[in-house]
Amino acid sequence: MTRVSILNADLHCHSVVSDGTLTPEELATRAAANGVELWSLTDHDEVGGQHRARAAAHAAGMKYLSGTEVSVTFAGQTVHIVGLGFDPDDAALRQGLAATRGGRGERAQEMSDQLAKVGIAGAYEGALKFVGNPELISRTHFARFLVESGACRDTGEVFRRYLTEGKPGFVPHRWAGLGDAVRWITQAGGMAVIAHPARYAFTATEEYALFTEFKAHGGRGVEVVTGSHTAAEYVKYAETAREFGLAASRGSDFHSPGESHTDLGQLPYLPGGLTPVWELLAERIQ
Ligand code: AMP
Ligand code: MN
Ligand code: MN
Ligand code: MN
Repeated sequence: MTRVSILNADLHCHSVVSDGTLTPEELATRAAANGVELWSLTDHDEVGGQHRARAAAHAAGMKYLSGTEVSVTFAGQTVHIVGLGFDPDDAALRQGLAATRGGRGERAQEMSDQLAKVGIAGAYEGALKFVGNPELISRTHFARFLVESGACRDTGEVFRRYLTEGKPGFVPHRWAGLGDAVRWITQAGGMAVIAHPARYAFTATEEYALFTEFKAHGGRGVEVVTGSHTAAEYVKYAETAREFGLAASRGSDFHSPGESHTDLGQLPYLPGGLTPVWELLAERIQ
């Protein structure tokens, strides 16, 4: 029997096309050096790096699945839906992602105005210096500016003190609908996957609703092994995957050598008894 769980697949990371600090080519080189066999670049709300990433994966000797990570609003909170194995040139998907990116500029201006009120001046311009894609200014870029300016020691501290719900630089934002995100990915030939489920502050009832509605919309996978899950959370979400009949994914969510504690490909393998997403996506692997 082929033990398909034992594959160094890393199906979640970010480049300068969203809020990472490495180019798609630099990520591919790093992933291959770390032993990744199957790779996906999953920039937030953006597929602009996909052709480069696929070419770089092949040049580095890795298989590739197209990827993105869509920002969704569900039950008043932000949820991330990873899309894998879709056609990156699909017009409806591109249009949906462009619409999802649309509000980021204004939101960033508001974040900057709020930060100015607590004594942090010039945050919009400061964050822009870290932005690789003008359509994709994110909280991560503000965090890098606040570290550079000496306001905080590291990006984790910036999020705790300024950029999360209830803190002075947090601006609530309405992202894509869950059904829309799943549909864009699925109709472009790909698979929708719930990203890092342990990172949401849902009640058990809300989380059950998320998984139930996600499945009803055609979602088929969940991240079990990710850089932001603990070992106990691998076990918990392996169980959830079995309960809901979802395939399991594995990805580091790597953003930057200086910031990310989990490097590309440096994760435990998927637990046994699960269907890996790459098994269902075999025909979409390039
Ligand atoms: P945005 O899409 O602009 O709301 O930014 C979300 C991004 O911020 C995530 O994709 C992470 O890269 C980063 N992020 C969110 N929470 C934290 C945190 N607590 N520490 C560090 N980075 C975070
Ligand atoms: Mn990010
Ligand atoms: Mn995420
Ligand atoms: Mn991510």
